[in-house]
Amino acid sequence: MTAGAAGPRVAPYDVARVRGEFPILAQRVHGQPLVYLDNAATTQKPRAVLDALRTYYETANANVHRGVHTLSERATAGFEGARQTVARFLHAAEPREIIFTRNATEGVNLVAQTFGRQRVGAGDEVLVTAMEHHSNIVPWQMLCESAGARLRVVPIDDEGALRMDELRRLIGPRTKIVAVSQLSNALGTINPVAEIIAIAHEAGAAVLVDGAQAAYHMPVDVQALDCDFYVCTGHKLYGPTGIGVLYGKAAHLEAMPPYQGGGDMIASVTFEKTTYNVIPAKFEAGTPNIAGAIGLAAGLDYMTAIGMDRIQAHEQELLEYGTAALAAVPGLRLIGTAPRKASILSFVIDGIHPHDIGTIVDREGVAIRTGHHCAQPVMERFGVPATARASLALYNTREDIDRLVASLHTVHEVFG
Ligand SMILES: *Cc1c(COP(=O)(O)O)cnc(C)c1O
Repeated sequence: MTAGAAGPRVAPYDVARVRGEFPILAQRVHGQPLVYLDNAATTQKPRAVLDALRTYYETANANVHRGVHTLSERATAGFEGARQTVARFLHAAEPREIIFTRNATEGVNLVAQTFGRQRVGAGDEVLVTAMEHHSNIVPWQMLCESAGARLRVVPIDDEGALRMDELRRLIGPRTKIVAVSQLSNALGTINPVAEIIAIAHEAGAAVLVDGAQAAYHMPVDVQALDCDFYVCTGHKLYGPTGIGVLYGKAAHLEAMPPYQGGGDMIASVTFEKTTYNVIPAKFEAGTPNIAGAIGLAAGLDYMTAIGMDRIQAHEQELLEYGTAALAAVPGLRLIGTAPRKASILSFVIDGIHPHDIGTIVDREGVAIRTGHHCAQPVMERFGVPATARASLALYNTREDIDRLVASLHTVHEVFG
């Protein structure tokens, strides 16, 4: 049992029934029943989400926060109701601490370009880790370049765990922001974010947690973590693309300048002076992704109905099963074996390029990811150009893993 597992044993759920609620999983690919193991890139959508999108457009579509007519009131109620659902899901203190964005990437950019510009000056430092997704590197790099600040990187060890000794050494009085993922998409490593946040706060630094992976694999409580910011993305939370979430502490959001100007984010406009709206509207310029927010809320409700602790336990059990099964494949090496990890099986096979692995298993109907997973520094750390990656979600089964392993044996036959 790895330490990432939920504490007490929880009752399993009916995975076969759950699978029946995802229409896309019923199809065949190259004549084989689809095995979808590319969940870290995006998850599939349950009927509840598809229905919520359709119902919104069929019964409530209108612009929000403007009209007094019935449809506009319905759309506004749906959109603001979605904000409440997100706030509950992340355990935020108040719905106004939830900003709807396009995705996790936009959330990081928003914080870097507003809070970051206010806080980070010449000679200051922003700290990231060596396992970050490009989304949680490049916006900070851009900020540091324009502010004359320095980007510093906490290294990882050979298993893919964060070097906490190095983190303690690197955090200092110049550190203004620490940006860290809760769960690495390339390695599956779970970082001790609560501990990192406590260390950072002691040094006077604010912390942004990249929860794009973590939020659909484990319960998240932003108040218990005490993070300053938390980002996640709708399309991995069983919701649609084009919608994301930025959580920020109200005091921060209120003190931050707007990110973009336009409709809805203003209190009043004249050519001489514009005053800005209160949060969250201040950060939501223009017509938002109303349907997306409603679809995202349906995805969160779907997970909540199953139970995040049960989802976590199911995926953890599968991870252990998959880790053992892959170990039996000749020449296979797992990349990312940290003691605390979740949901990700990244690997290479001696003498076979990861892209060839991906192509060959696809012919068997098995969808995995191959490439650098938007984490090129991780690939460099492990001295590989790319990995193959199988990533789990709440609807995956032992049969899915068995099919993956069987298809990996055909890789050996092709290249053997
Ligand atoms: C997917 C992912 C992102 C980026 O999500 P977008 O939806 O592309 O903005 C950032 N960080 C991690 C860890 C991810 O897995």
